[in-house]
Amino acid sequence: MISVVKFGGSSVASSEQFKKVKNIVLADEKRSIVVVSALGKRFKQDNKITDLLYLLSAHKRYGVDISAMVNMIEERYEEIKNDLSLHVDVKKEFEIIAENIKKGASEEYIVSRGEFLCAKLMADYLGYEFVDSAEVVVFNYDGTLNEEVTAERIKSKFEEYKKLVIPGFYGAYPTGEIKLFSRGGSDVTGSIVAMAVSAERYENWTDVSGILMADPRIVDNPERVEEVTYDELRELSYMGASVLHEETVMPVRELNIPIYILNTNSPNDEGTKICKESDKNGNLVTGIAGRKNFAVFTITKVVSADKLSVIRDVLSTFKKFNVKLEHIHTSVDCFTVVCALSDVDRIVYDVIAEIKKVAGVVSVDFDDDLALVAVVGRNMALQPGVSGRIFSIFGKNNINIKTISQGTKEINIMVGVSNQDFEKSIRAIYKEVASK
Ligand code: ASP
Repeated sequence: MISVVKFGGSSVASSEQFKKVKNIVLADEKRSIVVVSALGKRFKQDNKITDLLYLLSAHKRYGVDISAMVNMIEERYEEIKNDLSLHVDVKKEFEIIAENIKKGASEEYIVSRGEFLCAKLMADYLGYEFVDSAEVVVFNYDGTLNEEVTAERIKSKFEEYKKLVIPGFYGAYPTGEIKLFSRGGSDVTGSIVAMAVSAERYENWTDVSGILMADPRIVDNPERVEEVTYDELRELSYMGASVLHEETVMPVRELNIPIYILNTNSPNDEGTKICKESDKNGNLVTGIAGRKNFAVFTITKVVSADKLSVIRDVLSTFKKFNVKLEHIHTSVDCFTVVCALSDVDRIVYDVIAEIKKVAGVVSVDFDDDLALVAVVGRNMALQPGVSGRIFSIFGKNNINIKTISQGTKEINIMVGVSNQDFEKSIRAIYKEVASK
């Protein structure tokens, strides 16, 4: 039985945090593979090493002197090394990095060093083997992950060493050139590693005790979610709940490996379990998330126009402008397309002109004031009256609903409101559906 344990930036931000990590890892001998982020913030105004590395790379690009910034980063690692009396030659590592930067190393290489060095120190501290992700996480030339080769390599390292520390966030092309995942991608590394070794569980250690039912910046003290299914989590994180990287679920879902969100600073808290199916009853609503600033195009066709052709032509226009669509609604003569405002705000008039040209439609109306609120819950499926109950909350609170949609799995009801009603909507729903 193997547990893969991933520690986020705040969990490895200082030597004090390293000590907590060691206690957690050694408390359960199943915790055989440790994945780490780069050093995060130690206090609110502090810097994340990854941010500093991006900045360093930009400085280099514009010819600004980088030595002060390199020193600042190096000090963070030196401090941990000294506090914990580790053996890693941090100075030498930074000389190598400086040399590579001088030779023109890529931004991805520079940024990946945050995780690389953290994993080196952590391996030293735990007495585990350091395995460089550049050797085991393999990308194809089109930027997709080569899942098969990656799984084989991780598995063989695990069989060889049994106890490993692997840096998160990056891998390499077959040429050895470093490639990063998107921001927050160490979560994905943990998931890929868990899949590769068919882990019994994937523990994701962070600085909160699990997933909350709603954003605590909007709702005061929201309840913790005990269990959430992969499907629910996908919906919630897509709609803005920011606990895990959006792509974390995919690798583990096939093997049904549960993910646990746990708190390094309070390791006995229960946290949240993420799994395929939950036998916990839970609330009617598992979580509420949402995002502001969407745009709506409403296309009205000429009476004689063939509806399918209009839809096809309108969609091809969005494709041409490379705009990602969030929702599509159709009615007798109208067809509505919802997308992120930031994707279209500079090209609205071009998009409208093109739609009129290719689809030959009568009018295109544009509304730039839409927020989407997602109410997500497995217990909502196959239950008559649920959507009525949710919508009545908006009515009772005098909030106008602009759009409504529900997927056929019935675990997500999406309601579109004006941006100014966004927070009010979330608070109103929470008040009605949280267990009292
Ligand atoms: N350190 C990277 C970031 O800040 C990756 C991660 O922590 O997951 O995005």
